[in-house]
Amino acid sequence: MRILIFKFRVIWFYIKFQFWIKKQSRSEIDAYQEREIRKHIDWVRAQSPFLSELWGNIPADKWRELPISNKAMMMEQFTTWNTIGAPSEELFRIAFESERSRDFSPMYKHHTVGLSSGTSGQRGLFLVTELERARYAGMILARALPGGLKRTHRVAFFMRANSNLYTGSKNRKLEFQYFDIFENLDSHLERLQALNPTLLISPVSTLLKLREKIESGALKLSPERVFAVAEPLSKEDAQRLESTFKQPIYQFYQCTEGFIAISCEKNSLHVNEEAIHIEPQWLDETRTRFMPIVTDFSRKAQPITRFLLNDILTWSDQPCACGKQTRVIASIEGRIDDIITIDTRDYYPDYFRRVIAIVPTEIREYWVIQTKLLEIKVIVSLKNQSEFESAREQILSGFSELRNKHPKLAIEVEAGVYPNENKKLRRVMNLSR
Ligand SMILES: [Zn+2]
Repeated sequence: MRILIFKFRVIWFYIKFQFWIKKQSRSEIDAYQEREIRKHIDWVRAQSPFLSELWGNIPADKWRELPISNKAMMMEQFTTWNTIGAPSEELFRIAFESERSRDFSPMYKHHTVGLSSGTSGQRGLFLVTELERARYAGMILARALPGGLKRTHRVAFFMRANSNLYTGSKNRKLEFQYFDIFENLDSHLERLQALNPTLLISPVSTLLKLREKIESGALKLSPERVFAVAEPLSKEDAQRLESTFKQPIYQFYQCTEGFIAISCEKNSLHVNEEAIHIEPQWLDETRTRFMPIVTDFSRKAQPITRFLLNDILTWSDQPCACGKQTRVIASIEGRIDDIITIDTRDYYPDYFRRVIAIVPTEIREYWVIQTKLLEIKVIVSLKNQSEFESAREQILSGFSELRNKHPKLAIEVEAGVYPNENKKLRRVMNLSR
């Protein structure tokens, strides 16, 4: 019975997400969000002891004035933050045990529990109810599958951890297989080849490794759609992947805090405004880059309200050709911890990406790391090691403007590979803090 109800809900959300937002004008979306957020705030206030106290007497119609919350705050107060009275020790115990055993089926009273990856070391808990799980599955089916449920699909999902959140989407028309990115990629190739996915969803770093396998002839895939998740997709990587997969690379933007955005068929990254509201916290005077303040008015068990994410985003100001009026994210540049600061001046990850992108020598992989206040280390992995000296000179000359501006800055270039234990691709890092 429980499974039947779940399936029914998935289909209901699938239909809703397939058709609803396409017809909404911008002002209808705004009005809908305003109404839903106010209702949600009142509900959360009655259910979450911590948030109720944090918000004090600020009424729901003034929700834009609610104090901003963040991950550190949420993790510290998780027991009184969540609305189902789940003790955080118990949730952590379930989540860590799942990660250790790689068996991701245990739940907390029918609720899905998991850990987010956390690039900056801090692991986040996520807690999702059955209804929220159905909504998530319905949205993925509606937005990610080319042709929707009219056709059968085989989905390969490369992730750091499986979860009930994903395997819940299993259905007659949908074969779904999970590939653990902590295992050696070679051990997956046979199963991946046999599945021959119509939909391939994977972190950028794993897509790049799959690309090498395809280019070398060790793997033959013909997915109808490829989605990059979990790591920012740079223009250069998108181009490299597009030339191998012979199609655009779409994006999923999701984190513990919610399923924030997904690319439409025209490959614009639309915010899921049926459930997510984003306010920009501007980072620069020109109001180009911002950190998103997220309110997810569909999340009940783990409320996400005026929640600051430390990602660096930019808006697109062009209407999308697909016709949907939801906001479009032009780029996810990286995380706020990745901003390199020299003599109090901030340089965004994009600055370094662009310098490396125009180096003529073929660079397979690179890392730009601020190791000290006035020291930057560039590690490069080259296709042809004998070209290191020329690559080094080209990189240093690419940074000549930066060096002129900051004469005391030391830039070192070395050949190698940055040890990447949590398997999350970060090309620009500030480790000097
Ligand atoms: Zn679009």
